Amino acid sequence: PEQVAMHYIDEVYKNLEATHAHEPEFLQAVKEIIYSLAPVFAKRPEYMEASLLERIIEPERVVKFRVAWEDDNGKVQVNRGFRVQYSSAIGPYKGGLRFHPSVNESIIKFLGFEQIFKNSLTGQPIGGAKGGSDFDPKGKSDSEIMRFCQAFMTELHKYIGPHEDVPAGDIGVGAREIGFLFGQYNRIKASYLPGVITGKLPRFGGSLARKEATGYGTVYFVQEMLKEINATFENQTVVVSGSGNVSTYAIEKAQQLGALVVACSDSDGYIHDPSGIKLDTVKDIKEVRGGRIKEYIDAHPEATYVEGCENIWSIPCDIALPCATQNEIDADAAKTLIANGVKAVGEGANMPSTLEAIDLYFENNVLFAPAKAANAGGVAVSALEMAQNSMRMFWTFEEVDAKLHEIMRNIYKNSREAAKEFGHENNLLIGANIAGFLKVADAMIAQGVI
Ligand code: GLU
Repeated sequence: PEQVAMHYIDEVYKNLEATHAHEPEFLQAVKEIIYSLAPVFAKRPEYMEASLLERIIEPERVVKFRVAWEDDNGKVQVNRGFRVQYSSAIGPYKGGLRFHPSVNESIIKFLGFEQIFKNSLTGQPIGGAKGGSDFDPKGKSDSEIMRFCQAFMTELHKYIGPHEDVPAGDIGVGAREIGFLFGQYNRIKASYLPGVITGKLPRFGGSLARKEATGYGTVYFVQEMLKEINATFENQTVVVSGSGNVSTYAIEKAQQLGALVVACSDSDGYIHDPSGIKLDTVKDIKEVRGGRIKEYIDAHPEATYVEGCENIWSIPCDIALPCATQNEIDADAAKTLIANGVKAVGEGANMPSTLEAIDLYFENNVLFAPAKAANAGGVAVSALEMAQNSMRMFWTFEEVDAKLHEIMRNIYKNSREAAKEFGHENNLLIGANIAGFLKVADAMIAQGVI
């Protein structure tokens, strides 16, 4: 049965590869997931009969649209907008919006595909989706950002709704953008529908602890994983890439647990501060002033700033938390981390390790917390935000944080148990993929051929 399953997966993947050679990120995400599902198809041949793989890799809907907006000089600019509504088997489509010049259909599809499994793992009733634009927020004024967000939502509103599809933030989309998008949605709908988008500020329907959730969740997950080697964050040297929302709160929680976080970065370069990153400075630069991480050395001249963010992985550490972007750890970076004695890698970003890097972690017994499990805390609290919006009430920070912690423990436990049940005890990646898939697969079967 293993061989039959493997043959089935091979066929599906080869067909996809032949038709999607121009979408490398999408192929990478699909490859990573579907090959790890072989033990499931071996045990449940009826899933092959139902063509579950062919169905799940095909998005239910892909929306592409023009976004025209006027810049501060009165010139009309044109960007591309995307929303991939991937799977609604277990709930309304749910997933973030990314505004970054690299955005294209391949990137949105890889993110949307990952989101199906991630959202399933949270245990919350949310389907998978992703969207965004190749708009570059860097260097734009507040009013340009507002006009872009309004133009984007003027088209997107047709496809979303509290029971249909609920976007949120991702790279380049934070509280400011969510506010502009939400305002425009309500204006068009002549209504007030807080459940249409998550990541709102708490003063108008957002959840407390949503901002912290992805970073905290990643650390909570790694905390569970470290128990396997009887370790904690206490006195561990940690390198965290990025300095956005995920990174900032991963650093905060790691520091609260006694870790020494020595580095963080942005797309221009990285800061190495062996005495420990001063998080107040990072928050002031990124959250208050919207500046670049190199400004850190103005406040802390004893730290070093290095141009180019790739070499951050050459800093020796016990725990690496990639929280910036996809494929930021390639085989060479993984080899360097391993040579320097890294014990654990916890992925706060989406798909930050290449397939080759992941193989190297396993070959070298590095504990590995895969993104779709380790960074699921953000979308999990988004689902809690939706729940609070439906109830027209809100929970305290402590209540949401406790629920988040519990969700992360459960994701760890379910991934571990699935790995064990399907014969790959030490592989949390296989476990997470299987646990995420099973719920969606059973929902698809139960709802008939749709
Ligand atoms: N963009 C985040 C993610 O990658 C959050 C999505 C959400 O909250 O809907 O999971």
